[in-house]
Amino acid sequence: MPSKIFQALIGHVAPDPNRDGMKETPDRAAEAWRFWCSGYTVDGAALLKTFEDGAEGVDQLVVMCDIPMYSHCEHHLAPFFGRVCIGYIPSGRIVGLSKMNRLVECFSRRLQTQERISNQIADCMNDTLKPAGVGVIIKARHMCVESRGVRHQGSTTTPSALRGVLRDEPDARAEFFSLAKFEAQI
Ligand code: ZN
Repeated sequence: MPSKIFQALIGHVAPDPNRDGMKETPDRAAEAWRFWCSGYTVDGAALLKTFEDGAEGVDQLVVMCDIPMYSHCEHHLAPFFGRVCIGYIPSGRIVGLSKMNRLVECFSRRLQTQERISNQIADCMNDTLKPAGVGVIIKARHMCVESRGVRHQGSTTTPSALRGVLRDEPDARAEFFSLAKFEAQI
């Protein structure tokens, strides 16, 4: 990403874009944005190294909660951030728990909507692991909502994406929602 994009932006918004403190800002901003959008070059399916060994008999819900998530909304380029809970019911394959963190990073380090991140994580888990069911819930705060527009501070959005038995069977869905707790402060 060329730093001249940020030079032009700063030139438009700042009264004194050439002062010392901002000299290296275009380069720093370009590097930061390369990182914030680095998920585009990551293949989510390739991250999910699966284990059949150790999976025998594992057919109960596995839930991982409070995975940190940082993204930028595609409508305002403003940050939105929060926590993710992912649950799945294995069907012959299990995945290393840290891979779920990587999956969240892969899809959140892009220009995104919260709903699309939920769906992409759920679909990637579903297609790769072929589990009996997958559920993804993201609780997030959006700076485009809190710092401008309606300025509803502290309001959170919590969409969910459910696949397989977690979508279709009320008991399994209820179990997932009872375990998918957000403990960390957002
Ligand atoms: Zn927005």
